[in-house]
Order: sequence, then structure tokens, then C-alpha cells
Amino acid sequence: MTVTTPTIVGGPALPQERRLVTELPGPRSRELAARQQAAVAAGVSTTMPVFAAAAGGGVVVDVDGNSLIDLGSGIAVTTVGNAAPRVAAAVAAQAEAFTHTCFMVTPYEGYVEVAERLNALTPGDHAKRTALFNSGAEAVENAVKIARAYTKRTAVVAFDHAYHGRTNLTMALTAKNQPYKSGFGPFASDVYRVPTSYPYRDGLTGPEAAARAISQIEKQVGAENLAAVVFEPIQGEGGFIVPAEGFLPAIVDWCRANDVVFVADEVQSGIARTGAWYACEHEGVVPDLVTTAKGVAGGLPLSAVTGRADIMDAAHAGGLGGTYGGNPLACAAALATLDTVEEDGLIERARQIEALLTGRLGELAATDPRLGEVRGRGAMIAVELVDPATGEPDAALAKHVATAAHAAGVIVLTCGTYGNVLRLLPPLTISDELLAEGLDVLAAALGTAR
Ligand SMILES: *Cc1c(COP(=O)(O)O)cnc(C)c1O
Repeated sequence: MTVTTPTIVGGPALPQERRLVTELPGPRSRELAARQQAAVAAGVSTTMPVFAAAAGGGVVVDVDGNSLIDLGSGIAVTTVGNAAPRVAAAVAAQAEAFTHTCFMVTPYEGYVEVAERLNALTPGDHAKRTALFNSGAEAVENAVKIARAYTKRTAVVAFDHAYHGRTNLTMALTAKNQPYKSGFGPFASDVYRVPTSYPYRDGLTGPEAAARAISQIEKQVGAENLAAVVFEPIQGEGGFIVPAEGFLPAIVDWCRANDVVFVADEVQSGIARTGAWYACEHEGVVPDLVTTAKGVAGGLPLSAVTGRADIMDAAHAGGLGGTYGGNPLACAAALATLDTVEEDGLIERARQIEALLTGRLGELAATDPRLGEVRGRGAMIAVELVDPATGEPDAALAKHVATAAHAAGVIVLTCGTYGNVLRLLPPLTISDELLAEGLDVLAAALGTAR
């Protein structure tokens, strides 16, 4: 049976309210979920089987007319809001001009302008170049290709709790077996994993954790074999782990002293999400290469590798690219997204959201020892849930809270190697009122799990 969904105009004009008119999922969503089950591969699973009809500001409206508070931004993508007006207009205009030529066949200005903008926005004022791709994983893969071409070495180091994507090389870089890797090997070779800085669990200072990682790299890999160190300045899927102060600069200094390319994977943390254009800025770190994706194009698929001109230009002509990389619609969306961040003061807004989220979650943690740690920066804030008696991760509690929030009309995601972290990634266009209401729902869900 076919469900016809009336088209609703999304964007910030949608009523900014949590409104439940059916149980969740409602009858139309259930019909669509049945079609999904019959037509879509089982490996592509869904957090919340509520089908979207429109979204904008801080809400997602479903096909049954329910309006949900969005604390996930489609995994940190709709940072400037869903169907953001400048983005929607720019994409519509570009679609009427041309939708594709392939930049490698006949180029267009939008691609060059995105490269210019990212060269200016990424940390450091050295000469830079940018190459555009479609997904975060593709950007990370290309950063490794470029680092190998430049150094003429092959080894790559990644860290515990890392997440870099689902392609073969990025599965190898990713730490967590389930659900990302299990059964999908063999994985790319010459990838080595070392301990990260996880201050809540390892109790080490940043320099101590860096010394531990560097010692392991030197003993097990050898700088002379190492092309790149790939690191998320705030580890995303791994649990919004903010490394102890000093860890990141020490790793970058070691890379620089050993001619190893330092790649900051800012696919999740980049583009205003943490209250800065890039999370590296919080520690004054300048990466050699930086990957950008999720938040950069208001929901259209676009990713980038930006970095030192000498490194970026080491790959031979024709060695980088792809049919769709830097698609004109995605470039138009990215330029409109970057304008929106600048013109609407969204970096400052991310800092306000940090204060609101950490304030309320901090109050909850003060009286509830199951909230082991509240951490993160900007609008990338998480709470790690634990058994207060043992400090052991409590994944069941995280699942309970997320499930209860979903039933009450709040989209919230979990993450973490141990599955015990609730992560909050609201669009920067959410209102204070909706954010507070979303937090009320989470607090109530925590209350019912006692
Ligand atoms: C999401 C993510 C990726 C992968 O991005 P895709 O667009 O899903 O391929 C890579 N690195 C980090 C840090 C991410 O959060």
C-alpha cells in the first residue's frame, strides 16, 4: 500500500513546538517501516522509525503530523538548521542552472569558491589547497592517500575509540568492532592503533597520555615508516571524548618533528559545531590536513580535505577526484551554509548552547551519580552514564533514556565504545525554549529509570 505524504514546507517557519498527535511511531510511519523492511537492506538500520515529512529550526515533523524536538541534527549535519532558507534557495537556483558537469571534465566556480573559503577558515594562515569529495569517509581516505604520496611512507596511526567511516580503509582506522567492522574484513593493512587520552577513564594528564601514545608509535611502528597520524580532536562516535589539555599539541609537535602528516578528522567537530570553526582551535593546534564534512553543506553530501599546499599538491594530476566530488548543488549549499554561520552569528550561538546544555546537565549530575561525566564543547555535548557503585559503563541506562525520549518526541542519539553515552547535537537554530523542553524530557526519562 502506498502512503501519500502531503508536502509540508519545512525550515524555520515550521511551528517550533513538540506536538504529539499519535503514538510514536504513528500509523503512516508504521506503514512506511513495513515497506522499508521489505525493500531496504537490513544492514541499514534506523534509530527511530519515525518517517520525516519536514524539518527546520529545532523540530522534525513526521508523516503523521507529530513534531519532534531535534537534538541530533541528522548526526551533526544540519548545524545551520534543516531546509535553512539560504541553503534551500541556493540549491534551487543552482538546480535550475546546472546540476552536474563533473569538476574533472568542465569545472565551475562554486567548487573553487568552496576551496577558497575552506582554505581561509581552517586553522593556520599558511598556503593551503582543498579537494572536495562526497562523504566523511571519502575525505579521510583521501587524506591518507595524500599523506602517503607526500611522505612516500605507508603506515597510518589511529587511536582507541576512533571513528573514521565505513569504507575499507576507514573501517581499519575505526576502533569499534560492532556494528562497524564485524564480518566485513579483511581490512586495509599498515594501520596501527594506539591509546588515546580519555581523562574520565584513564586519569592521565594530556602530556602523560601523549607520551604513552608516542612511545607505542616509536616502538611498534617507527616514525620512518609512518605517513600519517589521524585523530578526531573531539572523538565523536567513540563517546564525545575530549582529550586532556596538552594531548593534542604534544601529538602534533611529535608529528612535526618527525615529518609525519597530522590529519585532524573534523568531520563531526568542524564548522561551528564546537563554538569555533574547527575544534583544533580550542588548543591552538594547526593540523597539516583537516577533513570537513557533516555540517558543511546544510545536509547536502559534501566533504573536503584542506591542508598545507606542499602536502596537498604531492598527489599527481588525476590521482584525486571522483565523479560527484564537489557536486555543484552541494557547493552552492556549502557557500550558503558558511554565509549563514557568519551572518547569523552561529559560532556564538554554539557557545550559548554549550552554556545551556552543560548548565542543566551539570545540575542533574550534581545530584545523580549515574551521570559520570558531562563533557564536550559548543553544541557537541554528551553525558557518560555509569553504575555509581563501580564506575562501569551503563549502556542499559543510556538505551532506556533514549527510548523514553524517543517515545516522548525528542530525537536523541547515543554513542560511545561502551554504548553508555547520550550525545546532544542540536541544530544551532533551535530555540532556548525547545532546548530546555528537550532537557526536561531527558531528565524525566532519567527519573523513570531509578
Ligand atoms: C561521520 C564521521 C565520519 C564518516 O563520515 P561519512 O560521511 O558517514 O562517511 C568520519 N569521521 C568522523 C569523525 C565522523 O564523525
